[in-house]
Amino acid sequence: MLTDYHVHLRPDELGATPELYFTSANAERYREAASEAGIRELGVSEHVHRFSQALAIWDHPLWREYAQDDLFAYCAFVREQTDLRLGLEVDFIPGREDRIANLIDSCELDYAIGSVHFLGDRAVDDTEYDVWQSGRSAEQIWRRYFETLAEAAQSGLFDILAHPDLVKIWGDPRRRPEGDLRRYYEPAIEAIIDAGVAVEVSTAGLRKPIAEVYPSTSFLQGCLEGSSPVALSSDAHRPDQVGFAYDQAQELLESLGVSELATFAERRRTLEPLGGDA
Ligand SMILES: [Zn+2]
Ligand SMILES: [Zn+2]
Repeated sequence: MLTDYHVHLRPDELGATPELYFTSANAERYREAASEAGIRELGVSEHVHRFSQALAIWDHPLWREYAQDDLFAYCAFVREQTDLRLGLEVDFIPGREDRIANLIDSCELDYAIGSVHFLGDRAVDDTEYDVWQSGRSAEQIWRRYFETLAEAAQSGLFDILAHPDLVKIWGDPRRRPEGDLRRYYEPAIEAIIDAGVAVEVSTAGLRKPIAEVYPSTSFLQGCLEGSSPVALSSDAHRPDQVGFAYDQAQELLESLGVSELATFAERRRTLEPLGGDA
């Protein structure tokens, strides 16, 4: 069994409307790409900030610009016109836990993916609201990022934690701190283990300047020592990214002794043996 649960049916651009991308023909393109890659469990997880309902969680300028679509229309489309699992990628915004819970509970999801993109009003991965231009040091940004990820795990809101060390996305130009990075990872690993949330292994990092899988091997090893379940995903934004670099991911997982992947239906988790369909 291979999974790809962190998949977007459209690119991030504003012009990528539901009319163009939330169609059964488009879903079928993703399904075909998954079949070719030997992926049986395929789910979609659109960004929460593309839906108007997200503004009840957080009133950020980026969200105000992008929150144009209807969340329930998306859920109905996936349920009624595709055979894909229904997920949602939801930012963890500290202090907004109740509002996030209300939004997640308002849709009958198969799984909720929790992400940390923002530290306060600034993002680790978006140059328009760039945290790296905030005058804070790499040490401060990294510490705050993993503390926020720990809070996201502890919140109990999510089934999967996405791209767990996204903060490394830019690679060296954005000053990865020196030395052993486990000092930053530790609070997050501990919280992930305590919460029992699945940790995402994402090949998306291989497509970014850092050119590494998320999370780093030592982060993943820490989670595995506490028996964290693993969810494997590509964070595809186009059909040809479904199952991106899965050979490499599978090799990594097997080298670390991972023999099962987490699967989700109606927010219940089941572990299935790791391996591609022939
Ligand atoms: Zn994300
Ligand atoms: Zn994503």
